[in-house]
Amino acid sequence: MIEKSYVMVKPGFANHIEVINEIKKCIWALGLKIIKGEYVSYSPDLAKKHYAEHVGKDFYPKLEKYITSDVAYGMIVEGENAIAKIRRVVGSTKNPEKGTIRREMPKMIGREIDTTENVVHASDSQESAEKEIAIFEKLINSNEKI
Ligand code: AMP
Repeated sequence: MIEKSYVMVKPGFANHIEVINEIKKCIWALGLKIIKGEYVSYSPDLAKKHYAEHVGKDFYPKLEKYITSDVAYGMIVEGENAIAKIRRVVGSTKNPEKGTIRREMPKMIGREIDTTENVVHASDSQESAEKEIAIFEKLINSNEKI
């Protein structure tokens, strides 16, 4: 099935063009298209909407502080089974697997693997993708001056 997914290069990584380019190459290597890519800056309000299922968890304040701390780079990705394909190359939140973006890319910029500052976000379902893309579009419009 042709799906859309939302991929977001997180703060501290989005300001490294070599990281963005490497992630784009991974997406293209999966046979997927990047139909939109923009720098965006998450407000606390839109961070809460994006991460709604985590609001109230012990790590949420740290996550919101991080995700609103600097510019992110959002992409809308489209293609056959896009959501599952991207999740596989992104890797798990805890102990990301060898060869995955979350495991390998921190090294590119001399950083350690970290559970919160874990390089990239990718939608986990079609429902999440639709919601996250709507938030991204809203951010693009509200961040026009970035
Ligand atoms: P997930 O939906 O699993 O990707 O979780 C959302 C984001 O919250 C992750 O990508 C991390 O940035 C952060 N996160 C998830 N679980 C933890 C945790 N146990 N401790 C710290 N940050 C976390």
